[in-house]
Amino acid sequence: MNTKAPAAIAIHGGAGTILRSSLTAVQEQAYLAALHDIVTAGASVLADGGSALDAVTVAVSLLEDCPLFNAGKGSVYTSAGQVEMDAAIMDGHNRRAGAVACVTTLRNPVRAARMVMEHSPHVLMVGPGAENFVRQHGAQIEDAAYFHTEQRYVQLLRARQEAGILLDHDAEKLATASNTTLGTTPDTTPEVAPLDPDKKFGTVGAVALDVHGNLAAATSTGGMTNKLPGRVGDTAMLGAGCYADNRSAALSATGTGEAFMRSLALHDIAAQMNYAGLSLEQAAHKTVMEKLPQLQGQGGIIGIDRQGNIVMPFNTEGMYRASMRVGDAPFIGIYSDFQKL
Ligand code: ASP
Repeated sequence: MNTKAPAAIAIHGGAGTILRSSLTAVQEQAYLAALHDIVTAGASVLADGGSALDAVTVAVSLLEDCPLFNAGKGSVYTSAGQVEMDAAIMDGHNRRAGAVACVTTLRNPVRAARMVMEHSPHVLMVGPGAENFVRQHGAQIEDAAYFHTEQRYVQLLRARQEAGILLDHDAEKLATASNTTLGTTPDTTPEVAPLDPDKKFGTVGAVALDVHGNLAAATSTGGMTNKLPGRVGDTAMLGAGCYADNRSAALSATGTGEAFMRSLALHDIAAQMNYAGLSLEQAAHKTVMEKLPQLQGQGGIIGIDRQGNIVMPFNTEGMYRASMRVGDAPFIGIYSDFQKL
């Protein structure tokens, strides 16, 4: 009898007003290809007998390295014109966890979160203290030029002009602003940018189940354009933007961080499974479709349980997402229906 768990992984690259009409064929293909390659890389860790923790670390690191997504390279700017990134990771086997917030120089905040988990007695470290600590453990440092992307800079200028804090999901607001003239014009305009900054959305994450039956989750983000320096979102807060417990599920969120924090959205899903006996699908649906909207919470989550059930509900028009069971072909989705490459 085969006692191995049905190893599988799911990833997301943010949710928001992502309509078919808002992406060109070239842009769509770029997202599909990135999601395909990254979910395949995560699944191959699991196929080799690797842990769920390693699979989510690899997948989220690759998402951070890809400038299409708002995490690592590709992170949005604060009102001070800097990137400040948050990340968290959690091991469902023993509920060990690590997180970093407001880090500005780390190429892979998710790897830093894992260093906090594995090498410190703490769960959450922030700012220069976190950066100094993980540097001693080999974290890769980058300068401001590495994190700079023209599209994110344009977003910041628009947000400043609107005098608002823009969620990376707030494409409609950005679209309105796109017709206005910028005070300072960088060398690319939205019309000619290789990827339209108006349609880029934020936060990345991964959840996995390995052959040993263990769950893990990781989430990483640049947060929101024009956020106040020092603002920390749900991504670094366990139970809000990242959560894993073998007794329920591994979960990763993207969306309006404050609503996810105020409702502890991911722990709420786990609690409904543990205490009310709901399935992952029922609990996730209730939280994403019913509870979060009551707090004006927009976004979505990905989740996997120990039976290998995968859910990816979102209450926005779209969510960049992919999943793959070891031995199967990957599924890739952007809009409210699935697409297979
Ligand atoms: N949840 C993230 C935050 O509030 C934003 C996002 O998912 O795009 O920092």
